[in-house]
Amino acid sequence: MLIVMKADATEAQIAHVCDVITELGFKPHAMPGATRTAIGVTGNQGAVDPTRFENLPGVADAIRVSKPYKLISLDLRPEKTIVRVGDATIGGDELAIIAGPCAIESHAQAFAVAETVRRSGARFFRGGAFKPRTSPYAFQGLGEEGLKILAEVREAYGLKIVTEALDENSVDLVERYGDMIQIGARNMQNFSLLRRVGRSTLPVLLKRGLSATLDEWLLAAEYIMSEGNYQVVLCERGVRTFAQHTRNTLDLASIPAVRRISHLPVIVDPSHGTGKNYMVIPLACAGVAVGADGLIVEVHDQPEKALSDGAQALTLEQYDQLIQEVRPIHEVVAPQPVA
Ligand code: PEP
Ligand code: MN
Repeated sequence: MLIVMKADATEAQIAHVCDVITELGFKPHAMPGATRTAIGVTGNQGAVDPTRFENLPGVADAIRVSKPYKLISLDLRPEKTIVRVGDATIGGDELAIIAGPCAIESHAQAFAVAETVRRSGARFFRGGAFKPRTSPYAFQGLGEEGLKILAEVREAYGLKIVTEALDENSVDLVERYGDMIQIGARNMQNFSLLRRVGRSTLPVLLKRGLSATLDEWLLAAEYIMSEGNYQVVLCERGVRTFAQHTRNTLDLASIPAVRRISHLPVIVDPSHGTGKNYMVIPLACAGVAVGADGLIVEVHDQPEKALSDGAQALTLEQYDQLIQEVRPIHEVVAPQPVA
């Protein structure tokens, strides 16, 4: 059920509709928009009777939702969501750049990369402290020590910290040291973890699962939003296919496909999407060209010595090159302000 309020509905009328929804044992999700507020209803098992709402003061329409998702949908919020990470944004006019190493390996490594990231004008720094590795014997990340280094990067450079939480315990730690919680591809359908970050006050970067369909990915975002956290950014990072020339197949068609259904911002990860250093810049350009709201990209000061994902890491020089190439593309792709 979706309740669309009249353009001139008052705060009190919106609050009253929310109270009625709560009294019925359901959960209201009020989404203020540019022209009107819509209120999504979740927690109902079967259909909700629209006549219960149609005559409440300030209500324009009560609509049954037949699709599996409600809160991620353009029906609820016709204009794009701008996710706020402190004073930085994802989904606004500016192309969001999230850059940094795959894993935080040392203070020196993190600072060497952060210096370049800051100089490029990017607002976000990435780096894993908890790494989901295929082998249990591979480097698993520095844990809390890595988060402390990230917090120092934030302090020194003013960059917003985006870092992965692998499980519910690590969410607590990421909340303490970071600015945005990354949910990795392998955890996209870890439903208890999704619900946990749905109760966080930090925004969430939700990567697409290794073999997730568009619907599965959007429903994972729906899990987070259904708990009340509406600050979700989707990230296309490639899916597993028969192709052997890349680590994953970066599905750039998912960007316009998401746009058609959802108001959530969507960014591209050309690093995991290709797995190959020489493909990262061209696919970053392509991602921006198809309308991504931003990029998340792996950069290392010494890729040959990286403890994880060295083959796809950009050098500091290559990263500068990427920024020079993507910015003009974004200029021509971004919708021009109406004169
Ligand atoms: C990462 O960003 O380092 C990572 C592990 O990504 P993904 O979950 O997309 O594989
Ligand atoms: Mn990585």
